[in-house]
Amino acid sequence: MYDLVIIGAGPAGLMAARTLPNNISFILIDKKKEIGKPLCCGEGIRRNGFVKLFGSDNYGFIRNSVNEHEVIYKDIRRRFKASYLELDREKFEKFLADGIADKINLNTKCDDIVINKNCVEVITNKGRIKAKIAILAYGCDFRIQRKYSMIAKCPRLLLCYGGICKNYGFDKNKFYAYFDERYAGYFWIFPKNENEANIGFATVVRKTNVKDIFNLIAKKITPKLRMVSEYSGVVPCSGPIDKTYSNRLLVCGDSAGFVYAGTGEGIYFALESGRIAAETAKEAIIRNRFDKDFLAKYEKKWKSSFGKLMEAGLIFYDLQGLAFRKGLVKELFTLPKDEEIEGMIIKGDVPLKAKLVWHLARLVK
Ligand SMILES: Cc1cc2nc3c(=O)[nH]c(=O)nc-3n(C[C@H](O)[C@H](O)[C@H](O)COP(=O)(O)OP(=O)(O)OC[C@H]3O[C@@H](n4cnc5c(N)ncnc54)[C@H](O)[C@@H]3O)c2cc1C
Repeated sequence: MYDLVIIGAGPAGLMAARTLPNNISFILIDKKKEIGKPLCCGEGIRRNGFVKLFGSDNYGFIRNSVNEHEVIYKDIRRRFKASYLELDREKFEKFLADGIADKINLNTKCDDIVINKNCVEVITNKGRIKAKIAILAYGCDFRIQRKYSMIAKCPRLLLCYGGICKNYGFDKNKFYAYFDERYAGYFWIFPKNENEANIGFATVVRKTNVKDIFNLIAKKITPKLRMVSEYSGVVPCSGPIDKTYSNRLLVCGDSAGFVYAGTGEGIYFALESGRIAAETAKEAIIRNRFDKDFLAKYEKKWKSSFGKLMEAGLIFYDLQGLAFRKGLVKELFTLPKDEEIEGMIIKGDVPLKAKLVWHLARLVK
């Protein structure tokens, strides 16, 4: 029996694995064939969070670094400061996996988890894995969380389509976001260099052909665009799930709903929650305590690290929806001061007026 089993080798699971000390026996499983593939991401990450975790931003897998964002809505162009990095996500995940390759089992799909009195059993296509505790980091999937009453209903999802594109024709020193209430979503351009960018579109509207909308917007704003690879995927955007721990189980990354709901940003929160989950699991193993009363400290720790940002993201999301429905998008993008936008996205500080509108809108609803 292992001390720990980790399910999912995305940013959350890999970060958890590389945080563990050598004396803890663990296995990391993933259904995919290769670390880092396929790409399904805009690859942007907040610089301050990245540096906090990895010490600097001087790594070969960082393709670009921007300090400015431009938000475009009809004739409004709003610029604000916020430092973000553009990763090569495949290389980044390979970097995360470096040194733990012998503990990673690919082509291994988790079908179910059974929590017993004395161990947790992970049922896979290759047999059962027994461990003292499990970290669930299998992305945007909520079956096991529902089974163990950690969530009442499936989270709201952002549907995305995009890819790596050439000839995008914008300034490489900025991230761009085009908003359009007709599609209840936004179109992003995250440059990697002068000629190459990660470009995509995200919406919450179901039964929409996201690819068609992407093509429609792309044709209008960057007609010479040439796509060299494409992806489509989903991100949870209704905030953290009701409970992120259970007996012998900790949930992190997208599986726990750790995404800034207003933008769909999740890489940093996946990494940080993976790190905190591994620290908590290590303590549980040392003390031989796997009950939910002990594991509750995991939730306390992630809340103190980025709980404020999760709430700010939800408020941002709801205010966007309100503005889309009530024809107030122009006001939403022109009224806040630069430092208020930065505070809301980077620090999780919600301006009092935004909080008031948010509470009032909820009351009326
Ligand atoms: C199109 C798109 C664009 C995005 N752009 C950005 C962005 O620019 N910046 C940002 O910060 N965030 C972005 N996100 C969100 C970000 O990608 C996620 O929040 C992040 O990847 C979450 O990491 P994770 O490790 O929790 O999950 P994942 O990265 O989804 O990793 C989960 C892993 O679990 C594996 N897995 C799944 N099911 C099983 C199973 N049953 N058994 C075994 N293994 C399994 C998967 O193969 C995968 O490797 C984007 C998301 C999408 C879809």
